[in-house]
Amino acid sequence: MARLEHTDVTGGSGGLPTEAPKTIGKGGRRVWLYPEWFRGRWLTARGWVHGVLMAILLIGPWIDIGSHPAVRVDIVGRRIHFWGLHLFATDGAYFLFLFGFVVFSVFLFTALFGRVWCGWACPQTVFLESLVRPIERLIEGSAQQRRKLDAAPWTAGKIARKAAKYAAYLVIAGAVGTTFTAYFLGRQGTFDAQLDPTSHPAGTFTFLFITGLLLFDFAYFREQVCLVVCPYGRFQSALLDKHSLTVLYDQPRGEPRGKKGTEGAGDCVDCGRCVTVCPTGTDIRNGVTMECVQCMACLDACDDVMAKLHRPTKLIRVHSEAAQAGGKQRFWRARVGVYAVGLTLVAGGFAYATFNRSDVELNVSRQVGAAYVVRPDGAVQNSMQLRIANKGETSRGFVVEAVSPADLEVVVPVSPFVVAPGAVDHVPMFLTLGAGAGKQTVKLRVRDDGEYSQEIETQFMGPGAK
Ligand code: SF4
Ligand code: SF4
Repeated sequence: MARLEHTDVTGGSGGLPTEAPKTIGKGGRRVWLYPEWFRGRWLTARGWVHGVLMAILLIGPWIDIGSHPAVRVDIVGRRIHFWGLHLFATDGAYFLFLFGFVVFSVFLFTALFGRVWCGWACPQTVFLESLVRPIERLIEGSAQQRRKLDAAPWTAGKIARKAAKYAAYLVIAGAVGTTFTAYFLGRQGTFDAQLDPTSHPAGTFTFLFITGLLLFDFAYFREQVCLVVCPYGRFQSALLDKHSLTVLYDQPRGEPRGKKGTEGAGDCVDCGRCVTVCPTGTDIRNGVTMECVQCMACLDACDDVMAKLHRPTKLIRVHSEAAQAGGKQRFWRARVGVYAVGLTLVAGGFAYATFNRSDVELNVSRQVGAAYVVRPDGAVQNSMQLRIANKGETSRGFVVEAVSPADLEVVVPVSPFVVAPGAVDHVPMFLTLGAGAGKQTVKLRVRDDGEYSQEIETQFMGPGAK
């Protein structure tokens, strides 16, 4: 059931907000926010989205797909496992496509839906709003109770509540820190690093650093990450235009503000609920600002006020500035088209690279030294090197065969040449052609003990004309 709390977001500094950020007090001092909580349809939907995202973020290193963790960045092994895809250091194209996918997605979604990433998908918001604040409410109560508790003298009860809250934060920070470390070290490596710092000092440091950073964030820094640290809020204005959907206050309808029954007053009764529920202390009635992370809490709160006053809802709503001004809402604009084409290209490139990916990567190069040797019997020999990357899950024994020209001979000192899963090995290889052979393209076949077979071409060097 919906719950409504009547408190002041200014933390007791009094009155409705001015245009200055609510977290900056006199002399630049931090003002602690006590946002109220009100669950309407937007916050319910957001809670589900956050739950799914938290699950995806937290389970990656703890479940296996095949014989590898679903997600792991194995720096030492120079491999990345990503939900069934196993990437090597040589798979640069995939990283380029993934990077492009993230960049174009953020550009496109911001142009279309404003700062939806911040309120709905950013890990900082996901954990803070859907895990940390609910725990705080559970232990310390409503916004009004929390403010009272903070102002009260230290008693056994207050110490117990604060200790319980920070212990809960520590557990969450530790769990996320453990999962973050496991993204790199794997499960066993992480447990080893936690239990024995000498086994992996960098891993131990990563776990402690992330845990400490998150504890600082949950317990103190909070919305300051969005307001002070994160660069995205600053460049979002370059991605938005008047057709972007953002959280907007319907100013013509709401103004002039006034209590119910005031003659000539608009629909806004100046109750301040939209401000008191805001996790960044923003007054959306002043227009779109950098502080608004588009969490939609003010929509739910104002809809509740309007419903109680038997007035139409959506005084604060998701709308575009163009439509709000009575113009036409345009979905497709030049920038949306450019971002959509970019996103389609990188997504298509990623899909193409994935479906055409081979488990084996071959590369032939010439050994250091003379380009060719003429043997006493006149035959011409080239010393080459075959580089084989086995991107599969099992060891493979490879053999190399001559394909063309017909008199081509191939000698590989170790055959079959076994390459471990995930390994990259180099095999010396001697190619021989008959007397008088010259520079020409020769063809080889590399196959394993299973179904893999691939032909490759390389340049043969010799003194002859062909
Ligand atoms: S919640 Fe709605 S009515 Fe109340 S101050 Fe905000 S905009 Fe005005
Ligand atoms: S102004 Fe509204 S949408 Fe923006 S951060 Fe505050 S509550 Fe969320």
